[in-house]
Amino acid sequence: MSAASFEESAAERKTARVRCVRWTGTGERAKLPTMPRAVFADVDENSSVWAATSNPGPPLAPLRGDLQADLVVIGAGFTGLSTAYHLSERFPEKKVVVLEAKRVGNGASGRNAGMVLHWINGPELESPERARRLYSLTSETMDWIQGLAVAHGFPLRFRRDGCAEALTDMRRAEAAHKEAETLASFGLPIRFLSGAALDARLRATGVVGAIFDPTAGRIHGLDLLHGLRGVLLARGVSVLEDSPVIAIEEGASHRLSTPEGSVQAPAMVLATNAHTPSLGYFRGGILPLHSHCVATEPLDAERWRELGWGELAGFSDDLDRIAYASMTAEGRLVFGGGGNAAYSYYYGSRTTPVGSTEPAHRFVRSILDKYFPGARDVRLDHQWTGTLGVTMSRMCSMGVTGAHRNVYYAVGYSGHGITLANLAGRVLCDLYSDHPEPWRDLPFYQAPLRGIPPEPLRWMGYHAFTALTGKSPRR
Ligand SMILES: Cc1cc2nc3c(=O)[nH]c(=O)nc-3n(C[C@H](O)[C@H](O)[C@H](O)COP(=O)(O)OP(=O)(O)OC[C@H]3O[C@@H](n4cnc5c(N)ncnc54)[C@H](O)[C@@H]3O)c2cc1C
Repeated sequence: MSAASFEESAAERKTARVRCVRWTGTGERAKLPTMPRAVFADVDENSSVWAATSNPGPPLAPLRGDLQADLVVIGAGFTGLSTAYHLSERFPEKKVVVLEAKRVGNGASGRNAGMVLHWINGPELESPERARRLYSLTSETMDWIQGLAVAHGFPLRFRRDGCAEALTDMRRAEAAHKEAETLASFGLPIRFLSGAALDARLRATGVVGAIFDPTAGRIHGLDLLHGLRGVLLARGVSVLEDSPVIAIEEGASHRLSTPEGSVQAPAMVLATNAHTPSLGYFRGGILPLHSHCVATEPLDAERWRELGWGELAGFSDDLDRIAYASMTAEGRLVFGGGGNAAYSYYYGSRTTPVGSTEPAHRFVRSILDKYFPGARDVRLDHQWTGTLGVTMSRMCSMGVTGAHRNVYYAVGYSGHGITLANLAGRVLCDLYSDHPEPWRDLPFYQAPLRGIPPEPLRWMGYHAFTALTGKSPRR
């Protein structure tokens, strides 16, 4: 971060503060987290390829006046809308309200690389049972997503013909080969690709092998969210856009305020992922990390095959400063990451970029060109930045908190949230129904959210760590 951007964010923090009050169970005021008022006014518009190729429908009216509800969900990304979906299905008699600061899908759910992946960023290989369970859990979520579009008749650009983890080093490739064989011996369809089989899917400079997961895929996340939005509205769920929550009074019944109204409800769901610390929750547990992406002009499949992209929905590489890519339905290559210059942390855990993102996007382009040198002349049509919520362990956390055990949350998916944030709806609905049993033994259930130091140590720590180790806490 430059000195100028540091000054800018410090100045803004001085001028724009709103008290966000949380109450303890005893009615005593808990520590009073503050929330920058400007945090949404300056949220950048979503300039992703997904936003440019979707129809969001007419804007939904913001919250005006005071509402009573049974449940209030903050955030209309995958976590928020999947949770509202399950809740409204299981409890059709309950009043569910979704408050979204901007528009449906304006967060990471509408800005990602689209890779729909298995696994949970964690201990997949612990035992065959654990591996099979996690694989089938994430597979069921993918099936659920596909089934939703069919059941409710909305268009969904979702291909499920495989994603790869590309290996760029012979030693790591050998280890990956063994890992793929172990997973295959557990009965999972994972396999290792090399030689002609690799070339048919991915011919990228420096890639010597790949772990291939044939039923992972690529989704147009905004198709899903706009479809879900329609289903929820038809069910009578209130989805309110342009309604940032600017204060929370937590209690047996919560009161959430927006600029023009309030919602009173006995249960709330934090579906705000990287933005959750700005609501005063899990400040020591979630690091908002910005990832920068580009998308090319559309080319036909034959041309991409010549350039090195074959039958593949998406891939990420094996480097600490992970690069990732996917192919859109229109033949645009989405590409992001590839080095610390492609990931930004802004002082004070800001959730919007400070200063120009041009250098980061230029850097991303250079990594794209490194993998696909023949694509140097391919035009870029889109570039954007999105915010990941990263935890110290890289494991996401889903659970319930608060003195009255009525604050539900699912956060911290790192770069793995498309499947997991959609799974979160099922988990949170079970927790709300007082039925946590199916989830208790899973590593994300109430996973601890702590260990990230306060500022200025956080900013210094992040920059010292990335500069000294060359690693990025992205994965
Ligand atoms: C560049 C990028 C690439 C990625 N690529 C992949 C990938 O290929 N595969 C994968 O699995 N994952 C990927 N991810 C991660 C994945 O997109 C996220 O983990 C997932 O979308 C998180 O969903 P969510 O609903 O929890 O959060 P979000 O989508 O961020 O939604 C949170 C919502 O809350 C709203 N909000 C915040 N504060 C408030 C407030 N105070 N009041 C009201 N509303 C509020 C925001 O506006 C936002 O709409 C990527 C992420 C990024 C940024």
